Amino acid sequence: MKTKLAILIFLCFHFSEYVTIKLFLRRRRLEALNHQRPSGLTTVRSMFVIGCCFLWQTHPAHAVHHWIPRKQEMNFNVRLGPVHILKRENFTQKMRFHVVYDKSISKLNLERQNLIKNKLIPEANAYFHQTLQVRPGKEPIRLQRTCLDTSYFLKDFTGAENGNVQFCKLLCVETKCGPVTVPGEHLDQCRVCDKSGSHCFNAQGEEWSRGEGVKNQDFILYVSSIQTSHCNLANAIAYASYCQQERSLDRPIAGFANICPARFDPDPKHYGNLLATVKHEIFHALGFSAGLFAFYRDRNGVPFTPRGKHGLPVYNDRYGLYQWSSRVVRKIKREQWAVRHGFVKHIVNVIVTPRVKAEVRKHFRCPDLEGAEIENQGGAGTELTHWEKRLFENEAMTGTYTQNPVFSRITLALMEDTGWYRPNYSMAQMLDWGKSLGCLFAKASCKTWMESRLRKERSVNPYCFAIKQNPLKMHCTHSKLSVGLCNLRKYRTRLPPEYQYFNHLPTEGGSVIRDTSSYGGAVALADYCPFYQKFTLTGTNGIKRETACTIPENAPMERDNFALEYFGSESRCVTQGNRWTAKKGLLTRTMLDWGSGCYKHSCGESGLKIQVAGKQYKCNYNGQRIAVSGVLDDWMINGSLVCPGCREFCGSIASCRNQFNDFNGIVFVEDYAAENIKAIGSSNTIKLSSIRFFMLSLVMSLVFVLVCA
Ligand SMILES: [Zn+2]
Repeated sequence: MKTKLAILIFLCFHFSEYVTIKLFLRRRRLEALNHQRPSGLTTVRSMFVIGCCFLWQTHPAHAVHHWIPRKQEMNFNVRLGPVHILKRENFTQKMRFHVVYDKSISKLNLERQNLIKNKLIPEANAYFHQTLQVRPGKEPIRLQRTCLDTSYFLKDFTGAENGNVQFCKLLCVETKCGPVTVPGEHLDQCRVCDKSGSHCFNAQGEEWSRGEGVKNQDFILYVSSIQTSHCNLANAIAYASYCQQERSLDRPIAGFANICPARFDPDPKHYGNLLATVKHEIFHALGFSAGLFAFYRDRNGVPFTPRGKHGLPVYNDRYGLYQWSSRVVRKIKREQWAVRHGFVKHIVNVIVTPRVKAEVRKHFRCPDLEGAEIENQGGAGTELTHWEKRLFENEAMTGTYTQNPVFSRITLALMEDTGWYRPNYSMAQMLDWGKSLGCLFAKASCKTWMESRLRKERSVNPYCFAIKQNPLKMHCTHSKLSVGLCNLRKYRTRLPPEYQYFNHLPTEGGSVIRDTSSYGGAVALADYCPFYQKFTLTGTNGIKRETACTIPENAPMERDNFALEYFGSESRCVTQGNRWTAKKGLLTRTMLDWGSGCYKHSCGESGLKIQVAGKQYKCNYNGQRIAVSGVLDDWMINGSLVCPGCREFCGSIASCRNQFNDFNGIVFVEDYAAENIKAIGSSNTIKLSSIRFFMLSLVMSLVFVLVCA
């Protein structure tokens, strides 16, 4: 009786296993047919044949819309002392911010108030204090009052003769800086003239008198948290801008930073991005703005753009911007912009000021590059006022957030070219994207770049052209700080012809997509060029985690960590050499989604080491495969990793000296043509190993039955 029961249980177990495998294979075939899904949809992520499931999404790119004040919202007449003295000053003063918290901040809960007042704003300001130096002012900052209909006369202090002191026509009104009302103690005397400007005087009454002003500071920053229409329109986390400029050299002297309460997320996991967003916005307020290009000055303090009769550049009403000269921004026509059906003309705008030009030439290693391309998409607030996403991907001053933002030398060079700051270049962060990739990368379309690489049988890094599919084939993002997926997707409609790059696209099943007109990278601002991007995983329990390796909170649940990954500040993305397996007794699980993972690394005298499940593995050369193993619960895990170049992870420290075949700019470990074949081969392997296991256990069952009988 016992024997019969054992046989029954054993056969039931194998039948359920057979059904599981059948269902799995059926799902795989359906996914293969339907894999061309529009981005934004989620799909099931399976780690193992019998494993845990996740939903995954590529990380959305947050657009950052800069708020550019209109002509009537600006004031240019703040006096910091006699002009001829101010112009002779050197850049000796580290940037000092006088921060004023608007009453809207006190309406937030205490946790949020604390975060803004004691951490976010002080840390952002400390960064600028270390990064920028200015010419010190000679007088306290007293902001100018807003005039009725923004009409004013420029007179001398008595109001009798012409000069450079602002007198409002008829009336002073409430003075605002962005959404914040400027307090009376920061304002200058209200001076007014009659309609004709012939009778001018100081307005009487306490509210119109001269305030104390702000002494020994270089910028007044009003910080608020108001859900303004710009917050809603741009779906912004925060935005900042300038509102007044000083008279002698036009440097912005006051501005605001508004943190949008609806999007403000105090979760410590997102603090790094929040701080980067606030710094990005303050860079706009200090000078990186299309609204200020026309005010930039050369190193002698002479304006790059000629001035009109009131000392201001010409205002372009159509764009709501002061019109800059071609010494600041030049329009350049790329005649040979390769697309799907040949070549088209592609117009770009390029910052051509001296420091910026020198920095981008050095960065791309392109000695005749005209300058740094600025964004050509996204409309007002994004276009022109950020670096071009295709060329400067994770530079923090691009128009959308994707991953690992860095403020590079190029952004600091732009601050120097405003004529208002001397940057401390030691504060610049390393920008890897595009580094040393030459003129072809910097000037041509990503189609030209990818084709030229494929002709040389080299990787198309930093671009890619794998369509997102299940199971996932994961790569490392360009910075190696996150596990990433190629963000190539199918749009609902055709892309503009100048962004259609693919003649045809290979698919997982080996077929080829011929009509590729609606295929492009998920980040439109990157001119639809596809690249590896970090993504978000949603577990079946609904908990989301991102794939950035350096954030401990991104670690999977211990029991699900079958790739023995580690998340923390010393973790980097490492390519996996094969599909990992987990064995327990006769049962074998094979990882479906694979390709890369997060692992702890260390750099010491003996070079680069990678740590997996507590064991150290030494990397001797770039591309070396190392077999790794570990135990998770009762599972024996086996897999392999592909060593990166030592210098790529350790920088140029002496420890990398003795390692050969080392990193020389970019690591090329992938071969795209082979990748599809490998993927098919690997999925067959899963199928075979599963069926083989099923057959083996079936035979064993029969033997068991015979023996028992
Ligand atoms: Zn911006």
